[in-house]
Amino acid sequence: EEMDVDTIWMDGEFVDWDEAQTHVLTHSLHYGTGVFEGARCYDTEDGPALFRWEEHLDRLFESAKVLDHDIDHTHEEITDATLRLIREQGLESCYIRPLVYYGYNSLGVSPEDCPTKTMVACWPWGAYLGEDAIENGVDVMVSTWRKHASSQIPTNVKATGPYINSMLAGEEARRNGYVEAIVLNKEGKVAEGPGENIFMVNDGEIYTTGLSESILDGITRDTVIELARDLGYTVHDEAAIGRGQLYTADELFFTGTAAEVTPIRSVDDTEIGNGGRGPVTEEIQQRFFDLVDGKLDGYDEWFLPVETE
Ligand code: PMP
Repeated sequence: EEMDVDTIWMDGEFVDWDEAQTHVLTHSLHYGTGVFEGARCYDTEDGPALFRWEEHLDRLFESAKVLDHDIDHTHEEITDATLRLIREQGLESCYIRPLVYYGYNSLGVSPEDCPTKTMVACWPWGAYLGEDAIENGVDVMVSTWRKHASSQIPTNVKATGPYINSMLAGEEARRNGYVEAIVLNKEGKVAEGPGENIFMVNDGEIYTTGLSESILDGITRDTVIELARDLGYTVHDEAAIGRGQLYTADELFFTGTAAEVTPIRSVDDTEIGNGGRGPVTEEIQQRFFDLVDGKLDGYDEWFLPVETE
């Protein structure tokens, strides 16, 4: 298997990989009505620790609220289960995937009779877009698919169904020989990547697309904004970026839990800046990796240690 998982937490129980199953008439399988998270545990200098876990849990519960899920478990239960999964599987750094979904009962679009189910799985997951990407950047294309507007499908929540937009855009890019896509919103402004937020550097200032551009309010986006401001950069976090501005940017990079901080070296075969990782991107990336390695002072509240004592 691609994913090396022994144990999965499902609805309050720890079950073996083989037993972590659901029925084919699961509501969320038919209508994409689940909500999920992607978080990471980093092997910091002080031992394994979940990074910004409370923010991920808050977003999970907010996503659940929008889709009218009533999660049967508290923050604390889900946290304890996750910490136990990491400890008992001997993981030091890993990706964490909580999912909340409607189980089976009836198959009308209305999920009213379907129970809300919850699971968490953890597994080792390295650089999402490849190790080489972190250093040398990725080649991306502007997708012909547009990001759905927040008036069509809420974009501030991580629901499962809407990821067909990400899948279509990403696969179109890969079919055409690119590593990833950039998706424009309905107005034709830059939104984000299929699983990443996007940042632009121009004349030493940093820009990222605003929440009103139908993007996910990424936790890595927030982290990078704070790190960049701490480094003294001016960060414009409500930017409306046109497609042409991508080509003329000094630097571009993606952020995300999976992608971390990944430089973009070309867009639609147009080299960005010097065609590699730019200096501001490198500085912010370094700062980000120092942070998640536990090397920076003052960010303790962003870490939840796996070992308790
Ligand atoms: N946008 C989309 C569409 C995503 O799927 C993700 C990954 N969750 C992000 C942005 C980045 O969000 P985060 O930094 O919270 O992982």
